[in-house]
Amino acid sequence: MLLETEVLDAVLARFAPSTAEKFIQEVFWRGYFKGWLEHHPSVWTSYRDDVSGLLERLNADDELRQRYDQAVQSKTGIVCFDAWAHELVETGYLHNHTRMWFASIWIFTLQLPWQLGADFFYRHLIDGDPASNTLSWRWVGGLHTKGKTYLARPNNIEKFTKDRFAPHGQLAAHAPPLSEATAHSRQAIGRADTTLPGDTVALLLTEEDGRPEELFSDLQPIAGISLLATEGRSSLPIGERASAFALAAVSDATQRASRHFGIVVDAPVETDDWDAKLTAFAQANGVKSLVTAYAPVGPVAEKLAKAKDSLARHGISLFERRREYDELAWPHASRGFFALKKKIPAILEDLQRSVAPRLL
Ligand SMILES: Cc1cc2nc3c(=O)[nH]c(=O)nc-3n(C[C@H](O)[C@H](O)[C@H](O)COP(=O)(O)OP(=O)(O)OC[C@H]3O[C@@H](n4cnc5c(N)ncnc54)[C@H](O)[C@@H]3O)c2cc1C
Repeated sequence: MLLETEVLDAVLARFAPSTAEKFIQEVFWRGYFKGWLEHHPSVWTSYRDDVSGLLERLNADDELRQRYDQAVQSKTGIVCFDAWAHELVETGYLHNHTRMWFASIWIFTLQLPWQLGADFFYRHLIDGDPASNTLSWRWVGGLHTKGKTYLARPNNIEKFTKDRFAPHGQLAAHAPPLSEATAHSRQAIGRADTTLPGDTVALLLTEEDGRPEELFSDLQPIAGISLLATEGRSSLPIGERASAFALAAVSDATQRASRHFGIVVDAPVETDDWDAKLTAFAQANGVKSLVTAYAPVGPVAEKLAKAKDSLARHGISLFERRREYDELAWPHASRGFFALKKKIPAILEDLQRSVAPRLL
């Protein structure tokens, strides 16, 4: 499990910022999308509602069902697209450029709803992320940068797949921007806890942050629990690769936390009922305070929001700590990427001061 700060640190130890500029910007895209969705959480809730509605429609609309099945079962007849759908399911991964082509063909050639494509990716990608995935699909469809779409062109595919695929005459030649009825207003970023309780605490590990020993290095938790929300990605089954990856990642974090803090951390379990699990865990360990990494918009945050209320009724508080990198990047991620890009040098300097001596 790597932190963005460690990736930046390693790169800047070897290259001048000007040489590594493009790569550094790629790393900041992740934080940009996460921060943007924090500012616009209704994009996530409408996406969730739309997917539910569309999955119901699939049961009633045979024509849509047939086209959808062909797309996710590698049977469209567009050889490159079918190969990528297969690769995604088999490996849990696609290269960024392939993701762009795939999403573009899904939306503009196959004319399928973008939300169902995002759901297909999110269920199968091992790096499936509510922000990067949902917002990248919206970006391809022209909903993120209003009016700007991404068109997959046969020549571009032929060139960058080194002639493996050449879908001439098979792809849409135009990519008219999608539109939506909902206007998504900008909000203040969700609150994180800056002060943590002085009393005895226990740790909650989730798939949102795999480095508890680093995030909570100043605390001495007495026990830990790890919960998974991977199935919360969709009401359809989650890909085996994605589930296995999330489980392995959280198991790894669990073992590291256990070694680092010298405590028992329960092996990860997937459960719908975080409220009951967390209450029973806190009570069994006699703690009134649980600490966890701040969960940005997504399934884990949904579970935490619900559990918080129920824990409070039992006199148990849940504290969420946010990473310095996110604190610095997210405020600049409420509009286009350019606004954040401009701030990267200043953010790197701030990180050097606050996260030093580890960074830079
Ligand atoms: C339709 C679509 C869906 C996507 N879904 C996801 C997703 O669910 N989860 C996800 O993490 N990324 C997603 N991406 C972004 C991007 O494809 C992946 O981050 C990238 O492929 C990761 O490959 P890498 O680790 O080799 O990154 P590199 O290209 O080597 O980049 C280094 C790191 O920078 C970050 N990064 C690079 N490019 C992007 C980008 N465009 N957006 C966000 N972060 C980036 C990642 O953390 C990555 O590990 C999506 C892109 C598209 C077009």
